[in-house]
Parts: sequence; structure tokens; C-alpha cells
Amino acid sequence: MKLILEKGAEGRHVSLLGNSQVPAVQLRAAKRAKAPALPQVSETEISRHYSALARRCHGVNDGFYPLGSCTMKYNPAINEEVAALEGFTGVHPLQPAYTVQGSLEALALMEKKLCAITGMDAFTFQPAAGAHGEFTGLLLIKAYHQARGEAAQRTKIIVPDSAHGTNPASATMAGYTVVNIPSAPDGCVDLEALRAAVGPDTAGLMLTNPNTVGLFDKNILEITRIVHEAGGLAYYDGANLNAVMGIVRPGDMGFDVIHLNLHKTFSTPHGGGGPGAGPVGCKQLLAQFLPGGRPVLQQSGSYDLEADQASIGSVRAFHGNFLVVMKALCYVMMLGRQGIPEAARNAVLNANYMRVKLQDLYQMAYPGTCMHEFVMSLQPLKDQCGVSAMDIAKGLLDHGIHPPTMYFPLIVHEALMVEPTETETKETLDEAVEVLRGLYEKALQDPEYLHACPHNTPIGRPDEVKAARHPLLRWTREENA
Ligand SMILES: *Cc1c(COP(=O)(O)O)cnc(C)c1O
Repeated sequence: MKLILEKGAEGRHVSLLGNSQVPAVQLRAAKRAKAPALPQVSETEISRHYSALARRCHGVNDGFYPLGSCTMKYNPAINEEVAALEGFTGVHPLQPAYTVQGSLEALALMEKKLCAITGMDAFTFQPAAGAHGEFTGLLLIKAYHQARGEAAQRTKIIVPDSAHGTNPASATMAGYTVVNIPSAPDGCVDLEALRAAVGPDTAGLMLTNPNTVGLFDKNILEITRIVHEAGGLAYYDGANLNAVMGIVRPGDMGFDVIHLNLHKTFSTPHGGGGPGAGPVGCKQLLAQFLPGGRPVLQQSGSYDLEADQASIGSVRAFHGNFLVVMKALCYVMMLGRQGIPEAARNAVLNANYMRVKLQDLYQMAYPGTCMHEFVMSLQPLKDQCGVSAMDIAKGLLDHGIHPPTMYFPLIVHEALMVEPTETETKETLDEAVEVLRGLYEKALQDPEYLHACPHNTPIGRPDEVKAARHPLLRWTREENA
């Protein structure tokens, strides 16, 4: 087959599948003398192989998955059906706008909905994940200071120590110097430390809210005021919007720019389950800098793609992970004005229900009501009998429960961070509470048993660093002999 496009982006002829542009090394490979040594198996065998592998994995469909900060909520099947509609899957991103009006209208509709939920004025859907959104948002902040002739002077981004770990990483990638400020004993930003940190070199502040210890910062209006008075902009890490959506809006709290994780809050798969989407929203003062190619309704009544002269350019091809955005749009429309705040309330209720049922045994890292997640410190148990947060997490595996997030945030020793999400029933929460309480008591009686957990999973305690650095991803005859 030979497929030639008439004209590429720069007016050149582009050959997608013609011979002319196939690299020589691959042409040589195509003419190799011997067939590659692939395993010879029947369809039955390969089907059983992958089914067996799938059974060894744990997903939200298998059991409770309270992985804090990751919002492992159930993803409704209807989302998948909507994203699979032929009108969405059968289009090409280079088609002229007038032939894809429905897709552009759907994107514009989602932009409108997210603006209403967050209090922002415009969104880009290009970023493919939360951290990618952070990077994009920081480029908007940089473009703003550049346009005002202050970019050379404003070189610092302030990041509280209760921020998600990607915040300082993204600020560094965007060329900023990160200024860390501590939390006060109540888990909120230390306002004195913030006042001392801002100045004429402040480009902005990134706030994760609710923060990584599961708390809504009670001084949030004061925080954005301090940053604005110093001439900086306020960035809201909205990956945790699950706790507040439909109830309060970052735009009303003084934030200028935000990213959302559609693959958390808006029920699209993540982890091994699918690509993410980290749309970035901003106030009008930053809208001109957004990546180009956003669908805008014309006077004629149809949509066209527009880019502003001041745009920072593209951060990813076309409209990002378009089908993920369609899944999230389905979710938002299905829940509607009443369902969205109800989901947030239930997420907060579920977390607090578990917290209260555990707090006489497990030490909570911070007192009082939490938002969508809570953090426990296993340090007292470790001091008492040597059983660590890791041991308890491994013990949960034996009961078909995915471990909570471990050893994060770094400001809590022996941390376990539990996020039940709103999609779990009271029965599931009660069962998890019983398992967690049972493991605590078992640890006190028989620490060795906990050190040896898990007892009944296919893999016990892999060397996670080695698995990440030196993954075995290829089938080879020798290794499988
Ligand atoms: C998950 C998360 C991120 C990063 O999102 P990715 O899609 O994993 O890049 C950033 N901030 C917070 C608060 C998060 O929970």
C-alpha cells in the first residue's frame, strides 16, 4: 500500500507509507535472511497467556484501590462507548475544520463546562498528563512576565513542602528556581514563611489544594493575595479537584492558572489503563498565551481553530488525547450540576468515615477533618514492634486490597495515604477498616508474620528500583527456556 498526502504542514510532500522515506536501516531489516525468532504459539495459547497475566494484576474492577493522591475511582463503561463513537474515532486531526464540526463543538463544550467548574476563562486540552499541564501552566506564567518585561527579574517559583512532587520538578523544567516553604504544624502553608519568601523575584506560587496531607488550606485567600501583591501569579494544582468540584472554584480563590487531571477527577482510566489528559485553564489575562489551535465559535455559527500571536506554541500534537477528553465530557454531562458536588461530598465523606474508624489505633498525621484522603503515620507501630508502613501495605495485598500510597508525603514518617474515592460502598470501606485493624493487631502479636507478607500473591517484594531501572520487556528464548 502506498499512501501519499498532498501537502505536509510546511508545504512539502509527505509520504506516510511510501518507500522513499523509510530509513535505510529498516529497509535492510526487511530484507533480512532469517525470520526473527518469535515464539510459535496458537491463538488459544496466546489468549490464555494474556488472561493469566491479567489475573495477576489488580485493578479497580478487582477490588478496593485506595491509592492516595491517585483517585482510583471507577470509570463508568458508558464513557468508553461515547469515546468509541465512529464520529470521534474516524476523524483525522488534519481534516479541515468544516468537516469535523461535531468534534470541535464537543471540545468547546468541555471547555465551557470546565470553565464553569473551575472559575477559569479558557482551557487548552493539549497536555497529556498532570505534570505536563504544570509545565504548560508555568510557560503561561513565564509568557505573562515576558510580555511585561519582567521575566529576567522574576526567576523564582514558590512551592510549599506539602505540594505534589511533580510541582518542584515542573518548575525546574520550566527554568525556574524553586523556593521551598514549610508547612505550619496544622499542615497548612506557613504564612510567615510565605511572606518572607515573596519579592520582586517571585514569578509565582504553585499550590496543591487540597494538599498532599489531605487538607484544604484555610488561608487560601490570604495566600493568593500575598503572591499577587508581590507581582507573582498563583498556580492551582487541581489534580485533587475530586474533593472540591462543584463546591468551590479555584478561580474564585484568586488563582490565575490551573491544571486538572481528567484521568483522576473526571473518571478516565490511568496507570496502566490508558493515556491521561491534563488540561490547563487560565484567567483572561493568560488566555492569549495558550497553545494554539483551540476551537472558537465564529460569527458564521461554525467552529474554527484559532491561535493567538502571543501563544507559547504547541506542547503536544493537535488537541492532546482527544478521546480521553470525550470520556470526561460524558462523565461531566452524566453527573451534571447536582452529581458533581455530590461526588465530591461522598469522596470526602468516605475518607472521613475510614479515618474516624481507624484513628483510635492508627496515628493520624494531622488532627481534624480531612478532605478526600487522609495520611496515617505508622511510626508509633514501628517503634513498638518494628513493623513498617511497607509491611502493612504488603499485608493488605493478601486481602485483595491495593496498598495506599506509601512513604509520601515526605513530611510524614512511615506514611500511608488513603484515598477511598466516592465510588466505594460502605460495605467495602467497613471491610477495609476491619482488615487494617486486624493487621495492626497481628503486627503487635507476630511482627515476623507482617515482615513476610504478602503470603499469597504471585510476586512478593520485588526490587522496585531495579524493576524500574532495568525492566525485562523482551521475550527471549533463553530467559523463557
Ligand atoms: C497525580 C498528581 C499530579 C501529576 O499528574 P500526572 O498525570 O501523574 O502527571 C500532580 N499533582 C497532584 C496533586 C497529583 O495528585
